[in-house]
Amino acid sequence: MIMNDKPIVALARCERYDVSLIKAILREHFSALGIDLTTYRGKKILIKPNLVMKKAPDGAATTHPAALEALILLLKEAGCENICLADSPGGQYVEARLRSVYRESGMEELAERTGISLNYDTTFLEVSNPEGSFSKSFNIIRPVYEAEVIFDFCKLKSHSLTRLSGAVKNLFGCVPGIQKFEMHARFDNVTDFSAMLTDLCAYVMRGREFVAICDAVYGMEGNGPTAGEPKYIGAILTSRNPFALDALGAWMIGAEGVDTILKGEELGYCSAKLEDITVLGEDPEALKPAEFKQPEGCEKKFLNNFSNILGGRLVKFFQPHPEINHKKCVGCGECVRSCPVKTIQLVEKKNGKKVAKIEHLTCIRCYCCQELCPFKAVKIKKNPIITLLH
Ligand code: SF4
Ligand code: SF4
Repeated sequence: MIMNDKPIVALARCERYDVSLIKAILREHFSALGIDLTTYRGKKILIKPNLVMKKAPDGAATTHPAALEALILLLKEAGCENICLADSPGGQYVEARLRSVYRESGMEELAERTGISLNYDTTFLEVSNPEGSFSKSFNIIRPVYEAEVIFDFCKLKSHSLTRLSGAVKNLFGCVPGIQKFEMHARFDNVTDFSAMLTDLCAYVMRGREFVAICDAVYGMEGNGPTAGEPKYIGAILTSRNPFALDALGAWMIGAEGVDTILKGEELGYCSAKLEDITVLGEDPEALKPAEFKQPEGCEKKFLNNFSNILGGRLVKFFQPHPEINHKKCVGCGECVRSCPVKTIQLVEKKNGKKVAKIEHLTCIRCYCCQELCPFKAVKIKKNPIITLLH
């Protein structure tokens, strides 16, 4: 998937979740990018939103149903009928979990309104990826494997581990359920994990029609992808190139040094520099929020310098670490089930209340516990020595 031409990203101002407004924006974007939806007639179309966990649309963790509806209506008007919406949220990939996520995120009502199908098939396939620079095989959920056309409809969010949750990171939801935790354990640092995500994205695009769209009407700032706060941005981005879309999105929210973009650049998928991307439509400066909070303890640049000094040996010790707020923790055990290295357990306090406890020595700093805690009870804390030095 070497991209020789300057990649194009279409950018539009979009002030609210209004289906007609977003439909008009997407129609214009598809026309500008030379995407003719009628050519997808008769093909298996997959819409892959970001449904990271059971959250209502106004939480800004999941792709908004109004944005998805706009795309679906355009596809239907173009004569496309074979449309399925699928994702593998965090946690177990089972029908009951999919149902509760679809219900809470507004997907169930969306499917009823538009007549598209929601995926309940929880089987997956092992696929080989010989072209991968880092990961030579993946387990992929069946609707992704079978799709001929994929709309990667992501959300623009900060991310405690990867700094950005955009089009490339959204495709991690192609990996079934708790196998995602296993991949966190296998690729236990952000550089390797991002290299894997880059390969996964390239695999998903290969041999398929692929369009990336980003719902950035409301994004998420702070402790994304789930524990942050909704942030109004007022934008929709569209591109055939998810790396270019992410490069523009990252620039807009001030996320620097995103490893998936850097890896994508190294592999020739796009340039990480904004001047090497053609932006159609709105001036990005006009849509860049004046302020955008980065995740707590996000010190990658500083740690990289530190890593050079220490030869990388002690970096994990200095990395921001997760801490449980016992006042907020209700002992639901979600983090225990999500931790890829099983370093969290529930313990009983003197008052009989069960709370989560982390064994920090074996923690790999993947931040899955923060991502999947439904009660925002996990905070990412900077190492105090780093705070003093910084
Ligand atoms: S930290 Fe969150 S996910 Fe873990 S047990 Fe407590 S409330 Fe549940
Ligand atoms: S404790 Fe949290 S950050 Fe540490 S390995 Fe487990 S899930 Fe990842």
